Amino acid sequence: HSKKKEQIIKEAKEKNVKFLRLMFTDIDGVIKNVEVPISQLEKVMNNEMAFDGSSIDGFVSIDQSDMKLHPDLDTWLIFPWELDDINVKIARFICDVHTPDGEPFAGDPRNNLKRVLKEMEPLGFTDFNLGPEPEFFLFKLDENGKPSRTLNDSGGYFDLAPTDLAENCRRDIVIELEALGFHIEASHHENAPGQHEIDWKYASAIEACDNIQTFKLIVKTVARKHGLHATFMPKPIEGISGSGMHFNMSLFTEDGNAFYDSETEDQLSHTAYQFIAGLLDHAQAFTAICNPIINSYKRLTPGFEAPVYVAWSGTNRTPLVRVPSSRGNSTRIELRSVDPTANPYLALAVLLKAGLEGIAEAKEAPSPINRNIYNMSQMERKENNISALPGSLKEAIEVLKKDETIKEALGNHIFDRFIAAKEEDWRAYAKTVSQYETDRYFELY
Ligand code: GLN
Ligand code: MG
Ligand code: MG
Ligand code: MG
Repeated sequence: HSKKKEQIIKEAKEKNVKFLRLMFTDIDGVIKNVEVPISQLEKVMNNEMAFDGSSIDGFVSIDQSDMKLHPDLDTWLIFPWELDDINVKIARFICDVHTPDGEPFAGDPRNNLKRVLKEMEPLGFTDFNLGPEPEFFLFKLDENGKPSRTLNDSGGYFDLAPTDLAENCRRDIVIELEALGFHIEASHHENAPGQHEIDWKYASAIEACDNIQTFKLIVKTVARKHGLHATFMPKPIEGISGSGMHFNMSLFTEDGNAFYDSETEDQLSHTAYQFIAGLLDHAQAFTAICNPIINSYKRLTPGFEAPVYVAWSGTNRTPLVRVPSSRGNSTRIELRSVDPTANPYLALAVLLKAGLEGIAEAKEAPSPINRNIYNMSQMERKENNISALPGSLKEAIEVLKKDETIKEALGNHIFDRFIAAKEEDWRAYAKTVSQYETDRYFELY
């Protein structure tokens, strides 16, 4: 380890790094960071950096507030931009949160994912990989620099400039991400006006989640430089597509991709089918984690390529789970419900747990549904055993509470705090009087 530390110290000097950000993710999926001057670098790398955990939502109470940050040295990264053009740079570490006596803190989503990842080892898996497809909207900033409700452009799927005004902004985002080591695979205008998607190469679970958090930060920062506000809110505007973050998942053993089998008719392994079966079994319960805000459920409605029903398919894009056509080491299972407000560490923990249960119990997947489920009647859905995803955050929380497997994947600490936070949010929302209500009832009654 000390070799790595020396390298980091050397690079910090050479590149004129003056500040160090220590980042971690809270239960809500929000990046938190403490910034220290670079003089603290060695202290930080010796896991001696303490912070007050009681001030972070869903973390700890006042009496055990002295938490420690353990930087993951593999996440050392120097941000490409310079401070006020004075040639001063900022670096970051992503950290794990530890208790004062050095134990991994159970309320830290990154630690929790590491705990759940260990459960794949006895089943013979070495890696759980994720390739995410985050979508987002770009809105114009007003003359005071505040986000406006005006979309940046009126482009559509795969449009090119001049309709796609964000092209330069998106290119800049890609340039910054590549400078940070992202291997970008696609960057395109999405379906809705002002909507975009950027995809990069899959990585193993923890790294993939770290990348998602870094990605959101970079997108927001670069957008601002272009006079734009980037939002990952799932459904910012009614009547047009919302933003999802499809999760492409695969399990690897020492011999390669465990979802691929060259011998079967569709070249999918039994393991792949069992993983799908596990996902479908717990789909309703993990929705609260993959779609964690009130607005998430405005996206999960028919007609906008977002899933509403629990089913899987090899071709159609309306079901919850799809198996894209690539095979070999790119064989993967795509979960289409996840949206970009999901805490990626929590989402991967519950999805892995659900999938592993399918494998451990050799569950059988139902038959694929290769047609548009939006167009099926209620009867047809019933005949095919297709149930619906929860229709609101409230419903989602109720199903989550009843699922022991998903609860285990979160651990008691996170489970309790998550439910409490969501119930509080729902109570506050339920009291509000919306535009819809005044429009509909004010004059009628
Ligand atoms: N925006 C859609 C969603 O809400 C996905 C569209 C697509 O990528 N095909 O998930
Ligand atoms: Mg895509
Ligand atoms: Mg897309
Ligand atoms: Mg996709």
